[in-house]
Amino acid sequence: MIFRQLFDAASSTYTYLLADEKTHEGVLVDPVFEQHARDTALVRELGVKLVMTIDTHCHADHVTGAWLMKHDLGSRIALSPAYGASNIDIGMQHGDELRFGDHVIDVRATPGHTSGCTSLVVRDHEMVFTGDALLVRGAGRTDFQSGDPEVLYYSITEQLFSLGDETIVYPAHDYEGRTSTTIGEERRFNPRIGGKARVEDFVGYMQNLGLPHPKQLAIALPANMRAGEPEGALPKPPDWGPVVTTYAGISEIAPEWVARHRDKVTLLDVRSAPEWSGELGHIDGSILVPLDELRARAAEVAKDKPVVVTCQTGKRSAMATVILRKAGFDRVANLAGGMVRWRELGLP
Ligand code: FE
Repeated sequence: MIFRQLFDAASSTYTYLLADEKTHEGVLVDPVFEQHARDTALVRELGVKLVMTIDTHCHADHVTGAWLMKHDLGSRIALSPAYGASNIDIGMQHGDELRFGDHVIDVRATPGHTSGCTSLVVRDHEMVFTGDALLVRGAGRTDFQSGDPEVLYYSITEQLFSLGDETIVYPAHDYEGRTSTTIGEERRFNPRIGGKARVEDFVGYMQNLGLPHPKQLAIALPANMRAGEPEGALPKPPDWGPVVTTYAGISEIAPEWVARHRDKVTLLDVRSAPEWSGELGHIDGSILVPLDELRARAAEVAKDKPVVVTCQTGKRSAMATVILRKAGFDRVANLAGGMVRWRELGLP
């Protein structure tokens, strides 16, 4: 199985990508609105066909990226129906099976942090995504959103601690940089519910956490009740050409498009002078500023048109796009694959 754990530093949220290696069908667990470009780039680069996003619960600390994913990739939106949120395609209930390729996720209701909290058990893979029900050496707060510590106690002890000791637990958050744990570990060492903790012990602990009100609640909750559908206009993608942002964060554009729209862009070549006149040649009308001179000579590059940067294979030019952005160029993209790719495609 393809498996990636992603992190949103602003909300300390983990997002998980799971995909079948054969069919490439995949699901994204707890996507974050602000990380949409990053997550779609990874999905695209790994060749994943995203069939579904799954939110473990209606979050109070960040807005879900579920609606944006559906808008861009056609994935279906799964959430517990307990919240009455709109835009939900799959109202997942305890006992449901969610499928991607040959893999099956068993849905277990684990309320207590919120009334609709769901844990996702990957069948045969000894993995469980616990949302905020069970965290690494912790458990999700129970003091708002119809949280209930007694309900959470039984969710954890009956639904999660019934899994094998070796089951790896992937939480929705961690504020200390811990990425995963196991059921066996939490059964022994969880300070709130591990060892021989009884319901009174857990409830007493949870009722005295004294946590501040979540900062994002007033923004996140209404947005998540629409599965993250924005109220205003969507952020506009670049309007001058089909620019994609890679998982590495580089703006990139396809050589075929550039060849057809030569007059619409300034072409900047950042190789050395000997390479420029060497065997790969250069594109007619492109200007030459070697990469190690670009910081000092950025002002020589005209800003009236979008700038497409090239080099031998698209690595140095990727760095050049970063330099140009810092120098105030908004419309800039890397020519994917550089001159080597350009030649392979037989472009002029
Ligand atoms: Fe939560």
